[in-house]
Amino acid sequence: MVQVSIGGERADVGTIYALGRNYAEHAREMGAAPEPVVFLKPLSSLRPEGGLIDWPEGSQEIHHEVELVLYLGRGGVRLDRAAAAAAIGAVGVGVDLTARDLQREAKQRGAPWARSKGFPGSAPVSAFVAVAQLPVSLEQIDLELTVGGELRQRAKIAEMLLSPAEIVALLSRWFELRASDLIFTGTPSGDGAVMPGEPVVARSRALDLELELMLSTRGRAGAAR
Ligand code: MG
Repeated sequence: MVQVSIGGERADVGTIYALGRNYAEHAREMGAAPEPVVFLKPLSSLRPEGGLIDWPEGSQEIHHEVELVLYLGRGGVRLDRAAAAAAIGAVGVGVDLTARDLQREAKQRGAPWARSKGFPGSAPVSAFVAVAQLPVSLEQIDLELTVGGELRQRAKIAEMLLSPAEIVALLSRWFELRASDLIFTGTPSGDGAVMPGEPVVARSRALDLELELMLSTRGRAGAAR
């Protein structure tokens, strides 16, 4: 069982849900309608505390997507907005690593995104902060991501199309949410390619959380064996 850390305590993780196109600017960059889409990432994609992540087979183009990640303290179905807000137990920072070339191919073929979004280690996450301990409101939380020290993405949760509570409420109409599920809430503009060996740092200053990761050269076509 893969566990995450919430305020220093270990916590199990159930299903990993993820939203796409939840910031208008990013949706425009992708040439897509600013209308959220939902997909799943397998538990084997979870990589608490980041670290070295193997380059996935068959891809030449890995993109970073920094995201706020919700940890559900309660589950439920058809939650109203207040119940959905109360279901959010903790928040952390994650990177939805995406094999963009494989995703493009899947979109063209009308095939699922599982391979491009679910390769091992494609869901690195930081430690989590319990909502009861948050120093700011959810909307005031900031996210940023640097590659090799260069700023690539920066946003505030207030810029999301669907707020964290609205996301939980929506998902609870389509799925049976459970305590311990994780939800990746979508990435702001500025997502881009990351090369093997480049240090990637995702952080939230408001939450005082930092996540470091790096793609390894292992498995990359053309790389030394
Ligand atoms: Mg994403």
